[in-house]
Amino acid sequence: MPKKILIVGAGFFGAVCARELTDAGFECLVIERRDHIGGNCYTVFNPEAACHCHVYGPHIFHTDKEEVWNYICGFADFNHFVNRPKVFYRGNLYSFPINLFTLYQLFGVRTPGEGQAYLEKVRWPIQDPKNLEEWCLSQIGKEVYEIFIEGYTRKQWNRHPKELPVGIIKRLPIRLTFDDNYYGHQYQGIPIGGYTALFEKILKGIAVEPGVDFLQDREYWMKNRLLIIYTGALDEFFSYNLGPLEYRTLRFETELLPVADFQGNAVINFTEDSVPFTRIVEHKHFDLSFQEPETVITREYPNNWVPGDPPYYPVNTAESQERLEKYQILAGTEVPRVIFGGRLGAYRYFDMDQVIEAALKTSKIIIQANT
Ligand code: UDP
Repeated sequence: MPKKILIVGAGFFGAVCARELTDAGFECLVIERRDHIGGNCYTVFNPEAACHCHVYGPHIFHTDKEEVWNYICGFADFNHFVNRPKVFYRGNLYSFPINLFTLYQLFGVRTPGEGQAYLEKVRWPIQDPKNLEEWCLSQIGKEVYEIFIEGYTRKQWNRHPKELPVGIIKRLPIRLTFDDNYYGHQYQGIPIGGYTALFEKILKGIAVEPGVDFLQDREYWMKNRLLIIYTGALDEFFSYNLGPLEYRTLRFETELLPVADFQGNAVINFTEDSVPFTRIVEHKHFDLSFQEPETVITREYPNNWVPGDPPYYPVNTAESQERLEKYQILAGTEVPRVIFGGRLGAYRYFDMDQVIEAALKTSKIIIQANT
């Protein structure tokens, strides 16, 4: 008789665990509060524009982890999309992430040597940067920081960059070459046919019940299951008993436009404070699909999160870290049969590949402990 595992949430963490554990002989049931699988990676095909739209924000798969890449390629073919976002600031477009061409556009810098000399001149001599702003000033100086980082970061996080950890900005490369690939990773692309089809393949043959909210019927679900893998928010699981963790939420404004190509690129960031959205995404560029005369764009507005809103980004302030640790103790002592994972369950600003890696690891541990 196979052992029963309940998986709450059909995003990457839940779906990969479900696949691995099912293949190892466990009986898995996946329940999902939303009416669809795929978590925030969910895509919907738009026939007018002939492309898959990223409903909860752009998801570009990128990784250096060979094991993760080989694993995910077992469920989809990936196209050769490479993320090369542009920045729009006070009427001008700039190459991004910050690279030699950006410095050429701004200051006429043409070679790596000139770029190096420019940065050495403008960098602030901060030995041990303690926050996001200090780190930027120590790397790129005030002017470049103000154009590309300050306004965008304030909009995104609704906090002064002085109050934010350095880790957030270290996601962004600064290069003294003309390479404008946003990610320095070896593997990158978008699943051909969309993320939803990829999730359907991962979950093939596994019982999935969308539209089912674990927290509405917690006692029922806690019974009869050897183990529960919970990928919803940790604080919500505990009814915010210790107070909510901090998140940022997003509002998406999506339009179908009667033009073949609206902005010529998948992503354009609007870095100035006075523009209320952070970026415009044009979905057909992700699919490299240009046969239709119409296009779908989405403006992305970051917002303050209150319980009930979808939590997109954990805000890793010292306060929320402290609260997180208390929730983790609660999880370990009160519900030892529940494993928390994914961006929300772990409360980590994970990329997709990190979530998959963590899910593979968790599944292995469960399999080893139960066989
Ligand atoms: N960022 C910025 N300007 C930009 C893009 C990003 O200052 O044009 C900063 C901002 O603080 C953001 C962080 O870099 O939160 C990470 O950006 P990334 O694009 O990795 O965020 P995501 O795609 O996860 O929203």
